[in-house]
Amino acid sequence: MKVAVVKETSPGERRVALVPETVQKLVQGGLDVLVEKGAGDGAWFPDASYTAAGATVVAPDQLYAEAAVILTVTRPDESTLARLRAGQAVIGMLAPLTEPQLAKSLADRGVTAVSLDGLPRTLSRAQGMDALTSQANVAGYKAALVAAEAYGRFFPMLITAAGTARPAKLLVLGTGVAGLQAIGTARRLGAQVSGYDVRPASKGEVESLGATFLELTVSAAGEGGYARELTAEERDAQQAELAGHIARQDIVITTAQVPGRRPPLLVTADAVGQLAPGSVIVDMGSSALGGNVAGSVPGETVITPNGVTLIGAENLAASVPTAASNAYSRNVSALLLHLVTATDPGTSALNIDTTDEITAGVLVTRDGAVVHPAVAKLLAEPATPAEPANQGS
Ligand code: NAD
Repeated sequence: MKVAVVKETSPGERRVALVPETVQKLVQGGLDVLVEKGAGDGAWFPDASYTAAGATVVAPDQLYAEAAVILTVTRPDESTLARLRAGQAVIGMLAPLTEPQLAKSLADRGVTAVSLDGLPRTLSRAQGMDALTSQANVAGYKAALVAAEAYGRFFPMLITAAGTARPAKLLVLGTGVAGLQAIGTARRLGAQVSGYDVRPASKGEVESLGATFLELTVSAAGEGGYARELTAEERDAQQAELAGHIARQDIVITTAQVPGRRPPLLVTADAVGQLAPGSVIVDMGSSALGGNVAGSVPGETVITPNGVTLIGAENLAASVPTAASNAYSRNVSALLLHLVTATDPGTSALNIDTTDEITAGVLVTRDGAVVHPAVAKLLAEPATPAEPANQGS
């Protein structure tokens, strides 16, 4: 089977779906690996390192003509979509719940789409394939560094002949995978850290990292270890309670997400206005749909009128490209091997067995149809007008 790695096309995307070390393992396992020229450059893996690992470095025309399976990190762009043909498979983080139309386009082209976002994460045999976790880990780490760089003071307490610096006070809102990694990293840099999440289960995890857990009245554990979306009353109560805590911080990092929903607004315009000049907010929920912080702009740094640096950090994993690609490559190759008939690596098609829980979770399109129930449901719903972006106060 010919498996291909494409060069990512999203702006600022520097990750690559397979790194040479994993290519070598797949080649040893009997797969042929094609790599688009320059695919690994952004993550510091030159073409020669793929050739040395047993891959064939090719131009895009050959890649799309020959590959049975195309591996990507994020969604294929329009020109890539136009090159895909019926019977080909695409495996990547396709975010079908936020971009159901992409799933429809892939189905219309007869492409089998597999998305790592749909992996059943609590299944222990799927953990090696969990790209949401591996990439959130990288992003959470980088969020603390981005905050430290934008902050005009030290994170740790420093006692020097020139005076004593107090430690920075840093609050992480949303303490899932990314939030916990941001807490750990900020603690290692010496900040005084607290964390908050609507899932009460996260209290123990926050405290085990040596941070303080903020307890508010709103609690919203959902299904599968995720948070559920808050009601309007809960959201208002949460924003009001959080505002008092936020005002005492030097740095706030937000990571809150609810799968398939617009990110919840946690830091209102009023709360931003309460922060002292020189404070920093990193909004990891920042997206075209809106973010966790009023006024954040995805991919941009804004200085508010009261002197707060507000960073709309939408894809931080891409800015640590080597570590992120190493981890993603292990995840995607584990899933690929799961989908290749174990007894017949010479086969030219994926072994799609929908009675398998992993396969059923990740399969988005097949035989010209969108087969993922949640994505199909979204496509069947009449389009609703988008909520106004992030102007909460
Ligand atoms: P996520 O990226 O979907 O969300 C990030 C965090 O935002 C979550 O902790 C969520 O509770 C929080 N959040 C959502 N709405 C909020 C609100 N209004 N206010 C405050 N916080 C809010 O989540 P994630 O990091 O991918 O993981 C979420 C959960 O899944 C965690 O419990 C994690 O431990 C669990 N998980 C389990 C496994 C496993 O069992 N192998 C693997 C990965 C994740």
